[in-house]
Amino acid sequence: MNTVNNETMTQETKETQDSTHDSPAQIQPDFSWDEIDTVLLDMDGTLLDKYFDDHFWEEYVPKVFAEIHKLTPPEARKQLLARYKRVESTLQWCDLDYWSEQLGLDIPELKCKIDHLIQVHPYVIDFLKFLREIGKEVHLVTNAHSKTLEIKMRKTELGPWFDRIVCAEEMGEAKEQPIFWERLEEHLGYNKSRTLLADDTAKVLHSAREYGMGHLIFVAKPSSRIPVKYSDQYPAIVTFDELIKGRG
Ligand SMILES: [Mg+2]
Repeated sequence: MNTVNNETMTQETKETQDSTHDSPAQIQPDFSWDEIDTVLLDMDGTLLDKYFDDHFWEEYVPKVFAEIHKLTPPEARKQLLARYKRVESTLQWCDLDYWSEQLGLDIPELKCKIDHLIQVHPYVIDFLKFLREIGKEVHLVTNAHSKTLEIKMRKTELGPWFDRIVCAEEMGEAKEQPIFWERLEEHLGYNKSRTLLADDTAKVLHSAREYGMGHLIFVAKPSSRIPVKYSDQYPAIVTFDELIKGRG
């Protein structure tokens, strides 16, 4: 009897966890498009499905690395994740040349081999059309390396939707650093209080907030394979149709 109860409890607990995923409640975006002139959009996880990047770095690269070095895939994965961690939130992390050299692999070529996994999130095109219709300046602002950007723009054909495309390497800092935004403002010439930034990385939103960015939106479902997780600090969306409906 006890065993049954325990099993039932375990199952219920699991279901509860699966349905909430420890996510805070959604903070609804609350702004009018009249207050915005410029929109800055992150690429990976925000416009594009982060599943590609997660799969590439956590599964595909370890698999190739394991074959070359005669390791088991879990051993290779453990070694590589530790190496990734050391350069987290820096430009090195995004630098494909750095990883090609570090790992002795042709990283851009490997990315091209699984480029069928590069996907645009639902409603992104509708949102970009909407922004154009209401006359906003729209810039893509990414930590991604220029070679990654090239592969992804070729695959998705999103490039023409943007007024400008900026890779963090051009600013000499990753977006996680507040100085990045000072340099970006100088580079693009926007009014920060009338600018909206959407990004799926909380650390990036923290640095933009510290710098004084007017409007911040957290993207709560960066990967199609990972459950929604809202932020307890920022207004959030799951998909961009939430910023189109009833606005403008
Ligand atoms: Mg991102």
